[in-house]
Amino acid sequence: MPTVIAIDGPAGSGKSTLAKALAHKLGYIYLDTGAMYRALTYLALQDKLDLADEKALSKLAQANPVRFKARGRELEVYIGNKEVTKEIRLPEVDKNVSEVSAHPRVREIMVAQQKAIGAEHDLVAEGRDMGTVVFPVATLKVFLSADAKTRAHRRYLQNKERAQVAGSSPSQSEEEIYQAIIARDAYDSQRESSPLKPAEDAVLLDSSHKSEDEVLNYLLKLLEIHEAGGINGR
Ligand code: C5P
Repeated sequence: MPTVIAIDGPAGSGKSTLAKALAHKLGYIYLDTGAMYRALTYLALQDKLDLADEKALSKLAQANPVRFKARGRELEVYIGNKEVTKEIRLPEVDKNVSEVSAHPRVREIMVAQQKAIGAEHDLVAEGRDMGTVVFPVATLKVFLSADAKTRAHRRYLQNKERAQVAGSSPSQSEEEIYQAIIARDAYDSQRESSPLKPAEDAVLLDSSHKSEDEVLNYLLKLLEIHEAGGINGR
């Protein structure tokens, strides 16, 4: 059976950086499940769908499976043949993705696709419900957090870097990002269907005062212990 490492946590906690580095180090596939909900949200906004319409959104999700292509450590995101890697990070998507992802039927469709990928490949999967719902028997479950100010600051720097590469300036201030992150976390944590929360057997890790390398090395150590038969014998 393929090995899955599940990384969950709130927005901007450093999940993506960690998951990409871990996947690269282990030679596993990196699965960004947030990108799947983002792509659907982008498509729904383009189609001007009512985001409260669960049936319409489910139909859209079913008809438009999200595809990934690896480019180095990064993932390109596609709907059909259209690349949407950049578009799914737009503030408009940030603002609306929690509403879309809260619909149980939408989640069922996404979860089925995620499980199918996990049945075929060794994975580092990141999201909100990897450890609790999608991969309950993951080899290692990590719940990564950081205080909201730190997360907003990291996201701001990330956006600034992306904007520089694109020759533009960041579209949101750090304060706007902070407010958006808080709103999204509240929505994701309070929804009924698969809310954001640590699995009972997850390793809880606060990255506020840790560098990316420190977090990565800590997890590599945990995996070593696991391989030696240490963590729950899983
Ligand atoms: O990880 P990212 O911030 O890109 O996720 C975007 C949004 O997608 C989250 O705020 C959440 O609403 C939703 N999501 C989810 N379940 C996942 C991954 C993401 O509900 N497994």
